[in-house]
Amino acid sequence: MSTSLVLSEIDLEADGKRSGYLRVPHSTHRSAYGWLPIPITVIRNAKGPTVLMLAGVHGDEYEGQIALARLAQELEPMDVQGRLIIMCATNAPAAKAGLRVSPIDQGNLNRTFPGDAAGSPTQMIAHYIEEVVLPDCDYLIDLHSGGTSLFYPPTLLRGLGHTPQDAKTLRDLQDAFDLPYAWVFTSGGGPNSTARTAMGAANRKGVVPIMAELGGGGAVSKDILEMTERGLRRVLSRLDMLPGYKPDKPRGTRAMHAEGSVYAHTAGVFEPFKAIGDPVTSGEEVGLVHAIEAVGQSPTPVTSPFTGYVLCKRALGQVVCGDAVFQIAKDADQT
Ligand SMILES: [Zn+2]
Repeated sequence: MSTSLVLSEIDLEADGKRSGYLRVPHSTHRSAYGWLPIPITVIRNAKGPTVLMLAGVHGDEYEGQIALARLAQELEPMDVQGRLIIMCATNAPAAKAGLRVSPIDQGNLNRTFPGDAAGSPTQMIAHYIEEVVLPDCDYLIDLHSGGTSLFYPPTLLRGLGHTPQDAKTLRDLQDAFDLPYAWVFTSGGGPNSTARTAMGAANRKGVVPIMAELGGGGAVSKDILEMTERGLRRVLSRLDMLPGYKPDKPRGTRAMHAEGSVYAHTAGVFEPFKAIGDPVTSGEEVGLVHAIEAVGQSPTPVTSPFTGYVLCKRALGQVVCGDAVFQIAKDADQT
């Protein structure tokens, strides 16, 4: 395995609290010896697990970025038992640009793991996380949203676990985060995962991963941000890492399995017939695509191949062939 060229400005091991940058080497016309700054904070005190918390893996997904930046500012070593490694803008060039992918190399970090030590900036970030950071971690919390193009209600994502202990832990973490929805994966995961996501990287390294989809549409929701910040503290409390925090009463989570996405097959403006949470039947018309330039032409119906409920919807009005307009899920106890 190649050695990472990424250099951490801060000690990831020592007790106390430190913030600084991971330096991703990037030699350019205007900065021959330059590096890209990836913000990182470590808070360590006493004995306890190590949790890696990521946001900004996709740069246009914002609630997690705010929640982790605030957590890194607010928590002090005396508040923590164990170690928190907080990266609030994991693919920082993408986060700075407000884009899903890095404007430098077009890299989609959550499709890049295990990365490449000698690759592009996004590949180097993925490699550093998988080969340098994750091997010393116990848990991964990776915060996403629907980004610019999609909108998710606050949804916890997890696997079923490959051991009875993992299964119990994942269910406990889902309950602790206490988001309105949970999307439970029925396949994948485990040490042989080939997923190119941060969650796949965690599974390969024996780290228990959870992920969350927290809104989207390129905006920030006050309510979803509140649920994110509350959920993070509740999860850390569940791991016995925040001894001074007293969780409030749980609100409850609706657990689902994803059936699949509904796609547009023509270009135009999508008119949805469904909202998040609405029931959908296989073969049902769920919207129309209006080809605005085709004068006198009827809109094209979009039908769902799945029965279930709308979990996620497209946030942008315009579509082309191949764009997902809805994601359909079923209650976990119905499948
Ligand atoms: Zn994402």
